[in-house]
Amino acid sequence: MANIPVVAIPGDGIGPEVTKAVQKILKAAKAPIDWLEHHAGLAAIESSGEVMPEGTVEAIKKCAVALKGPCTTPVGEGFTSVNVQLRKRLNLYAAVRPVRSLEGVPTRFEDVDLIILRENTEGLYSGVENQVTDDVVMSMKVATQTACMRMSHWAFRFATQRRRKRITVFHKANIMKMSDGLFLKCSRSVHQKDYPNIDYDEAIIDAGCMKIVQDPNNFDVLLLENLYGDVVSDLCAGLVGGLGVVPGANFGDEQAVFEAVHGSAPDIAGKGIANPLALLMSAVMMLEHLADERSNEECKAAAALIESGYRAALRDGEKTGDIGGDLNTDGFADAVIKRLGAPAATA
Ligand code: ATP
Repeated sequence: MANIPVVAIPGDGIGPEVTKAVQKILKAAKAPIDWLEHHAGLAAIESSGEVMPEGTVEAIKKCAVALKGPCTTPVGEGFTSVNVQLRKRLNLYAAVRPVRSLEGVPTRFEDVDLIILRENTEGLYSGVENQVTDDVVMSMKVATQTACMRMSHWAFRFATQRRRKRITVFHKANIMKMSDGLFLKCSRSVHQKDYPNIDYDEAIIDAGCMKIVQDPNNFDVLLLENLYGDVVSDLCAGLVGGLGVVPGANFGDEQAVFEAVHGSAPDIAGKGIANPLALLMSAVMMLEHLADERSNEECKAAAALIESGYRAALRDGEKTGDIGGDLNTDGFADAVIKRLGAPAATA
């Protein structure tokens, strides 16, 4: 079978380092992928003068699948986040972030198994901001019935396919009665009308966050609007070892872009010490997606090999500094490659 063309966007900061490590592991696992390298973010400004070159967007439209490293977002000024731009341009409205405990990464809680579903295109990420007067600035929180319904349908369909039992919506509809109120109204109606077999509940986000850190096993699938999804993703990452171990995927109706939850980590960029695991797990999600969408057995086999490899490496204490080990990025990649296809741990 011919290899599958996939766009690779190395990104900024630690992006190129972790992308290289991940590509090396996929090659060793014989993943049937032909990488088409394109740029976005600061790297793209250097090569083309634009943060989001049209060629990158067109390439993803054509391939339908991309693996993306993090892109740096300037704080308080400068261009709009490249990550946000890309999600909007391609209408990647649903983000999935599985948050799971990993053997060999000790944390306060055991057996965490949460999935975060984040609406990716609106809310306070609308980018509508005005200097109203010298004294007043305004950021607009946008919610549309179309996007809220689309996301709710997507979330319940996803939960059904993955045999998950319960969806909890985090909101602040007591304060933002219209925007968060609409998000809730849509989730309730999709649940009642189309998915009564999935349990459904709601939590005001502040109380919900408290309950998560008291016992994450109280939750199954969390459904959140854009900003809450961003914040709660990092909070939940902290429950299982931090940003180095949480993967993600952004889905639209036509394309899917796989990327870690973490950013470009400028504080450790260029040192070769970043944990490539979050992007590696995102790449495994990508291979599983390709296996399902295109009935590709080679992708399925490569995903299984890689998952067994990184699980065995972690069990053996082979890990990067952020999760208590002493390996660098390349050292961890080699440790995974050495263990590709390792048997699962016996209980
Ligand atoms: P950005 O502006 O791109 O969002 P940031 O530094 O604000 O970057 P993150 O990149 O998410 O946000 O990093 C937050 C913290 O987590 C940093 O201290 C960073 O070093 C650490 N971190 C993030 N990703 C990793 C990783 N893959 N390996 C090790 N440490 C990481």
